[in-house]
Amino acid sequence: MALLEEYSAGVEIIQTINKGRGLIAGKRMETGQLILRQHPYAYVIMATHAPTVCHYCLACPGQPDRPLVKQLLKCGGCKFARYCNKECQKKAWTDHRPECAAIKRVFPGQPVDQTRMVGRILWKRDQNLAKEEEVKIEDLVDHLSKRTKEERGDLDEKVYSFGDYFTYDAMPESDDEMLHLFAIIDCNAVGLNDHKGLQSIGVGIYPMMSLLNHDCNPNCVATNNGVNLELRALRPIEKDEELCISYVDSMETREDRREKLSSQYYFDCECNLCFNGGESEDLKHATAAENMKEESVKYINQFSKDMLKRINKTKERQNWERMSNQVLGTLAQQDCVIADTNVLKLSILNLAVEVQSFLRRQDSALQYAERVAAAYEKLLPKIHPTLGMYLMRVGILQWQLQKNEIAHQTLGKAASIISKTFGEDHSLFKELLGLIHQCRMESHMSKNSQREMRMAKKRAGLRLPEAF
Ligand SMILES: [Zn+2]
Ligand SMILES: [Zn+2]
Ligand SMILES: [Zn+2]
Repeated sequence: MALLEEYSAGVEIIQTINKGRGLIAGKRMETGQLILRQHPYAYVIMATHAPTVCHYCLACPGQPDRPLVKQLLKCGGCKFARYCNKECQKKAWTDHRPECAAIKRVFPGQPVDQTRMVGRILWKRDQNLAKEEEVKIEDLVDHLSKRTKEERGDLDEKVYSFGDYFTYDAMPESDDEMLHLFAIIDCNAVGLNDHKGLQSIGVGIYPMMSLLNHDCNPNCVATNNGVNLELRALRPIEKDEELCISYVDSMETREDRREKLSSQYYFDCECNLCFNGGESEDLKHATAAENMKEESVKYINQFSKDMLKRINKTKERQNWERMSNQVLGTLAQQDCVIADTNVLKLSILNLAVEVQSFLRRQDSALQYAERVAAAYEKLLPKIHPTLGMYLMRVGILQWQLQKNEIAHQTLGKAASIISKTFGEDHSLFKELLGLIHQCRMESHMSKNSQREMRMAKKRAGLRLPEAF
């Protein structure tokens, strides 16, 4: 896979009044339009995923659109880095060579992800010295003055041990400058998701994208395709409008978002949604009917919180039958009082999907998944990556249950969202096209063949969609 070229549809850097630098649209942008695509200045695979993905292109064995990646090659030097093939290994070598020596230097210890990241930035800087960069890493925010004593101590520790990894002779910076760099990584590194968009397997630093400010109802979304980070419009954007992304999960309540923004990103959100609320904000606390008694709502809220704790404990013990009873019992009580879009009920509905899938009660899992999807459709903007990915999973579940016509519809909806949030180059979109094709073929088969197909899917043990 060739790494895609960098791209910009005309983005300008501005100085905002109270949020530092920011990015604005240089021209009008349409929904789904690719606005910016950046290679990372530096990136690393998280240690926890180091053995299972290619450290150059992020592919992993079993990825449907990369059938040739069967087993990863191990770097003979550090025995830590892994690659799809010789080609990826060769391309990674310039960045990996000094790192390979450093990893060997601290063996049998293992450098933490941030240490490897800072190492990569410093080595890269040595190679790039002559290059004039539009946005310099050193100029990004570090929020050092706002750190708690504990956070500060944690950073200090990483700085002190950095020389063991990098060698003290080569260290170009004073301790203060090193601290600044570690703090920058802390606030600006972006998680890189696997090809399914589900879990974070690496982190990258993208200086230009780091200038994007937050809004709880953002006009853009940043998603990664392999190591590249791409920014797309979630709705039409006018020329000179500021481009914003959400740093936190849009599904969370105002209180939870603001708490996270303050403790992890060190600012109090002043966005329109936080100040003026909106329909989606009300829906997160919605009751099942109007004029619900205040004390019933209060009671069910506390009951839901208590049950969530208990259910999660049961889940840890993997006692699925008990978990199923607890989840369905809680839902039955919630159903009379709070709406499906209520965050407390949504958490339980999500657990219902999960546990019914574990118990292989696919029909029941689908029923709850459809309710979650309907709630997401009310809570999220029409074009949103979470909604697209969830619809994809519901569509897969419908297809596994041989409900091909409805599956075809759901997957079509998912594809139209995913093409706008991830782009048509993304493996998620390619996988969707394959599934839609399969659905169409199966729905044209005779009743007999459809029955056989259903039996075959059952015998194959119904592969569970990943998110369930
Ligand atoms: Zn690779
Ligand atoms: Zn190596
Ligand atoms: Zn906000």
